[in-house]
Formats: sequence, C-alpha cells, structure tokens
Amino acid sequence: MSNIIWSISRIGAWLECPLKAKYKYIDKLYVEMPSEALEKGKKLHDYYDKFYDFYEEDIYDAEEKAINYLGIDEEFQKKYMMHALNFREFVILNDVIPHKRESKYYATDIDGDKWIGIIDRVDKIDDEFVKIIDYKTSEGSLNEVSKNKRIMKADGSLFIETSNYLPQLLLYAKIYELAEKEKVKEVGILFTSNQKELSSKEITQEEIDKNWEEMVEKKRQAKEAMKGPYEPKLGKYCFWCEYKDKCPLKVGFK
Ligand code: SF4
Repeated sequence: MSNIIWSISRIGAWLECPLKAKYKYIDKLYVEMPSEALEKGKKLHDYYDKFYDFYEEDIYDAEEKAINYLGIDEEFQKKYMMHALNFREFVILNDVIPHKRESKYYATDIDGDKWIGIIDRVDKIDDEFVKIIDYKTSEGSLNEVSKNKRIMKADGSLFIETSNYLPQLLLYAKIYELAEKEKVKEVGILFTSNQKELSSKEITQEEIDKNWEEMVEKKRQAKEAMKGPYEPKLGKYCFWCEYKDKCPLKVGFK
C-alpha cells in the first residue's frame, strides 16, 4: 500500500496528461502561479466558512466581522462583492446552521488506498440523512447539479449530460459516509458568482456506490499511468496547464 492520498483531481491529472502529473506529483515541480482564480477561491471559501461564526450573533454584522477577521482588503472586497451579496441572500433564504463546516474527510477503498474529500459544508436533512454542499466561485449556470444538459451530437441525435460536478459530489458523499457513518441523501452546489439559490439533487445509495466503483477503477488506471512512460497528451486542459513552458509539444497556449 502506498502513502498516496487519492482525490478526484489527482486521478484527473494522471488520466488527462501523464507528463503533467509527473511534473506535479513525482518531480514535485510546484510552479509559482500568479493564479487569481486560486486566490479568489481560497479567500471566498474562508469567508463563507467564517461568516457562520458571526451569523448566529447578528446576521447584519456577520459580513463585516468576517471580513475584518480575515483581513480581506478593500480592493478584493470591491472586485468580488457580488459573491458576498449572493452568499448573504443564500444564507437568509436557507436559514439553516450547517451541521458541519469545511473539513477534510478520509476513507479507505477496497484496495487499501486512502482517499480525501474536502467538503465545504454538510447540512442535516433529518435525523437519518444529510446533504453535502459545495461552494463554487466560478460561473455556474451550465453546471448546476440539478439540471441536465441536452446535447446534440454531430449525427443529429440527442443525449443528456448531467452536471460535470456530479461525480465529484457523489465521491464526497461516499467518503463522508465511510468517514462519519452518516447517510447522504442530497448534494448541492452554490455558484456564488451568479446564484443565490442552491442547485441541489437527491441521490440514491446505488448512485453513490456505482460512482465509487467507477472512481476506484479510474484510480487503478491512474496507478498504471504512474508507472510511465510519461507521454504528453493534448487536450483542452492544456490551456490551464502550469507546465506548458516545459512541455515538449510546445502547444503554444500562453
Ligand atoms: S501542455 Fe498539455 S500536453 Fe503539455 S504537459 Fe501540459 S497538459 Fe500535458
């Protein structure tokens, strides 16, 4: 058994492009990315979490107290004000104190490998079931978890695509169930840039378990990819690749 802790992003990296994954996980070439998106995501997640420390005292002061506590500067506040406003509306509409706030959960699969799920929030539905919630700071209308997309293929036939985030949420549900011995009946996403209402979906134990089996299978493929050869593999993700300057394909996305 290795000491690797598996997550959907680690598996995705190995299956998308073994060379990129090698740079990141074997060579550990951490690139100093001037990534505004990462910084935005981290600060806003901290804010959403901290908001609840003050919310119970006074909702109207909670925003200012959380901002002061985290030391969020004025420029950031102005730029991402909509996220905070949408979040406050969401909190008012869903007058529920989270059962659990941002935490890491761990589980072990049938192969003895360890997994991690970083879950933003868990709400109680009733004495038996909980709902898992993920906050996203990207724009989200096309990826709402409750909506299916109708997509037309080149031959004119239609197929239905579920939210890109559903496998991630189903994986969180399984890890949470294994770690906390509580049952998950619903998952939801809140895209704070442009939404005030949670996009949620009921899920079944069968869906959770089937997704888990698929993830474990993908992890096995990722373990195979880890053995090499570490070939570059072109894809749309090349656009965001931190290592494109090193990539022998010189794909030219800058
Ligand atoms: S640019 Fe694309 S092909 Fe090259 S390392 Fe990055 S992900 Fe792989």
